[in-house]
Amino acid sequence: MKTVDDFNFEGKKALIRVDFNVPLDAEFNVTDSSRIEAAKPTILKVLEDGGSAILMSHLGRPKGKVNPDMSLQHICQKVSEIIGVEVKFISDCVGESVETMVEQLEDGEVLLLENLRFYAEEESGDKAFAEKLSKNGDIYVNDAFGTAHRAHASTTIVADFFEGNKCFGYLLANEIKAIEKVMQTGEKPVTAILGGAKVSSKITIIENILDKIDNLIIGGGMTYTFVKAKGGQVGDSICEDDKLDLAINILKEAEAKGVSVHLPVDVIAANAFDNNAETKISAVDAIEEGWQGLDAGPASLENFKAVILNSKTILWNGPVGVFEMENFSKGTIAIGNFVDTATENGAFSLVGGGDSVAAVKQFGFQDKVSYVSTGGGAMLESLEGRTLPGIAAILD
Ligand code: AMP
Repeated sequence: MKTVDDFNFEGKKALIRVDFNVPLDAEFNVTDSSRIEAAKPTILKVLEDGGSAILMSHLGRPKGKVNPDMSLQHICQKVSEIIGVEVKFISDCVGESVETMVEQLEDGEVLLLENLRFYAEEESGDKAFAEKLSKNGDIYVNDAFGTAHRAHASTTIVADFFEGNKCFGYLLANEIKAIEKVMQTGEKPVTAILGGAKVSSKITIIENILDKIDNLIIGGGMTYTFVKAKGGQVGDSICEDDKLDLAINILKEAEAKGVSVHLPVDVIAANAFDNNAETKISAVDAIEEGWQGLDAGPASLENFKAVILNSKTILWNGPVGVFEMENFSKGTIAIGNFVDTATENGAFSLVGGGDSVAAVKQFGFQDKVSYVSTGGGAMLESLEGRTLPGIAAILD
């Protein structure tokens, strides 16, 4: 696996695919710059070697049309502040004017190209467009994990034009290493904590990880499909009635593979999907009609705690309750605390995919776990065992 550390960028122009798809407010100010911060080490490595950096990214969903609201010019100042270099901007990402500007770029300088998705060819993975992009640098660096699951021109196809001169940036390399640490080289016991709304969206992940884990903690809305499948009463809880057989099969498969499955035994049940609803603790398999389970109960959390504290490798994907509502966030916060303690005790913990990252950030756990993945969809696809095209393109 080649990273930026395998190259000396002195006198070279690095064409870096970053993920600067950051949120902007109504005045086009960047409201969360963590993705820019995340790309900084890679950019600095190139500059410190004595090279120059050409940054390319998408922003929003302009769907192949120029849209001034989604111009990367809005973020140029912020990038300059974070990188500590006055970043130049050009209002296109391919063509003669861009190539000229790239050519004139001096060592130590940074150029930000305009939104790639102003061209429909970006998302369609157009080869000719990718070739034009390739004219903008000597070495291609992919540091955008968030789009590594897309075979777009700038994330995948462009790599074909850099035979021997392509590598991963630090961010993408770290994501790959963190996933490997859980899925391939994780110290046992390995525990996966899976939550979120539906079994159907996590089924491929469960099937892929059963061979790799010792414990599976199931929480959140998916709980009730499993409980109902086992003959329990789930009241008005979220439940996928067409996935009951699937749930039983998963449980059987887990047993056959020696994986201990831990479902909640009790839940916080509410009489409405509302933060201010009336609540009571209910056995997970005896939830009355008119009531729905919205968080893990105290006995469940005690069980989960024992499993998590005994783990050496932890993967956490999905909240164990409706964490967006304060009264149903306690279970997810408790899980965060258990993972924090396990990590302090030497476990490797990876949080990633979908809403778990939002939950971890909301409750301030991002510095207490070993690794928080930056790529929602890309992380989910990795956990499903797929080879991401953006990663494959660098490896081959
Ligand atoms: P996912 O994107 O699949 O990880 O699902 C995350 C969503 O699942 C969050 O918005 C949670 O509010 C929701 N969720 C978690 N537990 C429950 C539950 N018991 N009932 C309904 N929704 C839930």
